[in-house]
Amino acid sequence: MLFVSTRGQVGKVSSAHAIKEGLAGDGGLFVPQSFPSLSLEQILSLNTLSYEQCAATILNYFLTDYSPAELAECATAAYSPLKFGKNPAPLCKVGDRTDVLELWHGPTLAFKDIALQILPHLMTKAQNKTGTDTKIVILAATSGDTGKAALEGFADVPGTEIIVFYPEDGVSPVQKLQMVTQQGGNTKVFGIHGNFDDAQRGVKEIFGDTGLAAELKDFGWEFSSANSINWGRLVPQITYYFKSYADAVANGRIEPGEKVIFAVPTGNFGDILAGYYAKKMGLPVKRFICASNSNNVLTDFINTGVYNKLRELNKTVSPSMDILVSSNLERLLFDLTDNNSAQVAEWMTQLNTAGQYKVTSDVAERVRDLFFAAWVDEMETKETIGRVYNDFEYVVDPHTAVAWRAAQKYRLLSSDDSYIIVLSTASPYKFCQTVLEGLGKAEGLDESQPFEAARRLTEETGLPIPHQITEMEHKPVLHNEVIGTGEMAANIKKTLEIPVENS
Ligand SMILES: *Cc1c(COP(=O)(O)O)cnc(C)c1O
Repeated sequence: MLFVSTRGQVGKVSSAHAIKEGLAGDGGLFVPQSFPSLSLEQILSLNTLSYEQCAATILNYFLTDYSPAELAECATAAYSPLKFGKNPAPLCKVGDRTDVLELWHGPTLAFKDIALQILPHLMTKAQNKTGTDTKIVILAATSGDTGKAALEGFADVPGTEIIVFYPEDGVSPVQKLQMVTQQGGNTKVFGIHGNFDDAQRGVKEIFGDTGLAAELKDFGWEFSSANSINWGRLVPQITYYFKSYADAVANGRIEPGEKVIFAVPTGNFGDILAGYYAKKMGLPVKRFICASNSNNVLTDFINTGVYNKLRELNKTVSPSMDILVSSNLERLLFDLTDNNSAQVAEWMTQLNTAGQYKVTSDVAERVRDLFFAAWVDEMETKETIGRVYNDFEYVVDPHTAVAWRAAQKYRLLSSDDSYIIVLSTASPYKFCQTVLEGLGKAEGLDESQPFEAARRLTEETGLPIPHQITEMEHKPVLHNEVIGTGEMAANIKKTLEIPVENS
């Protein structure tokens, strides 16, 4: 299977090439030229496979220049019980017609581990396949969870260096601690004066800087990306949509072939897009609920067809969704315009120059048929954490709470009682303070006491503290540099020990 750019200005490439490059040379995103389809029998039979076998099966459809044995090897390395416990994606029965898919059992307690534990394996194999002997520099801009998950995935992977930029005041104390205590001889973390979009823009500019790329190449380095714009990040996420459906049937929650709804807490639009691709491949999905916090650009887009990034970025209690430009939406638009790259390129130019674009009424209608959008404010988020716990004795993190609440809004407005799977994207222990506030148990605690908060959360709820949190308490801070967005390139060179020229 070959891959094309959403902006149509580069030739078709193999999956290894797409994964190695990250972003296409014309600024677009790589997408598969066509999509495989699975029959209902094939989907239901996934239930008999382990998660890693299931992942290898899905990857096989798309990464056809990797052998099945290589993909099985990647999946086994990524999803071992040592890293994810016995099931990387358990589907938990919570409400009457609403279940929760827990995607946070990996090393960093966020769903991004599912993609970022396997990406380094796919990437180092891609390096061999494309016949290059340069080393890979991974650059990542993070609003919290990507950074740590990428660091953990790439740490000490031979032939790679990973450099992460996070907005200094835009991540939770636990997220920040997770990053600044990162070990591994090939890891580097910088705080950025600015917000997530500043960090992401900085990284995108560096990717587009051909002079810098040439300079790095002279020293044996090549850039790649671990952000969800990389196809190798997206494709592993398709797996759990299929697997959870097969599990729901096996658990007797739905009839075979019954259409379900997925509620997805959405930021960069990667997770929910993987679900859309699963539907395109034959998964019986009625709709997707696109859940946002008060950074509700996507809610407005889905409801009006106008994407407008000209607004303030709010800091919220669900920081991994504090995003104004959801990069992966570009892939959806490419698909919904029947691969009209010229049209997509025009909209993306408008977004850059005018800060907004309006899709055709045909595309807007297709978007509304596929997605229901709702946003949830800070009060509602905390209230939902409390209510889900009181009603079901189940603890959700703020991101999951946003999706749960959006699903409730859908039920109210639609009177649709279809079975809903709420994607749970982070462990409550990553956001203890907010969770305790939601439970009404935060007296005397604040954001600066994450470990006290974790101990109180386990006392109150009985949910065990993950070992990743306990271990962090005594780890030394190894990364404490905070830089301006204009200093990113220079610091990359410094990290790679490339001399900064005086011209
Ligand atoms: C990244 C993240 C999201 C958003 O996922 P996207 O693929 O960027 O839409 C939601 N919740 C958590 C906890 C995350 O880390």
